[in-house]
Amino acid sequence: MPWCEDCAQFHDRSAINRRGECPVCGRVIAKPARLAWHFKILMIATAAYLAYRLYQGIVLLVHVL
Ligand SMILES: [Zn+2]
Repeated sequence: MPWCEDCAQFHDRSAINRRGECPVCGRVIAKPARLAWHFKILMIATAAYLAYRLYQGIVLLVHVL
């Protein structure tokens, strides 16, 4: 949850606009929504890749044993 220095309080992520500005004073307190979206996609892609590698490892084990 992003912290605003000027307001001295935490703001809910849903209360912050796309540019990451505080809903009270307008100070930028969070990364823009677009960056967060890209980060989320990267995390999903990494998780999918690791799951695929795990699957490959299991298939290899099944064939070896
Ligand atoms: Zn503020």
